[in-house]
Amino acid sequence: MKETDLKKFRTLLLQKRETMTDEISGISSRFDATLKEKTGDLSSHSYHMADQGTDAMEREMAFARGAKSGRFVHHIDDALLRIEDGTYGKCFECGKTIPMKRLKVVPHARFCIACKEAEEKKKPPNVKKSKR
Ligand SMILES: [Zn+2]
Repeated sequence: MKETDLKKFRTLLLQKRETMTDEISGISSRFDATLKEKTGDLSSHSYHMADQGTDAMEREMAFARGAKSGRFVHHIDDALLRIEDGTYGKCFECGKTIPMKRLKVVPHARFCIACKEAEEKKKPPNVKKSKR
């Protein structure tokens, strides 16, 4: 992917991230005070691949974990890391380039459409137990 395109997607991802974290901080600000005292340990515990002074970010994700928006931010952060290490825009499954059209709609996409669909098919929508 061209560097200019990468920059475009980085901007897009950062914008999305900001919108999401605004929502999260709205939800979680009231937990913040108590969490600051309790998470002394948590900030040094890296459950995420990122190891570049992202303590604040990790704490933010830690208390947003479980929340839908928190998971979304996590996906965005992952995508931003992939931009940094040069794997952005490649399908996790087949390694092919994810079409730009798809990335514009879902900038944090990890799979190409074919693999995404295949993955969704793998999950049985409703496992019916056969009666004997
Ligand atoms: Zn694929």
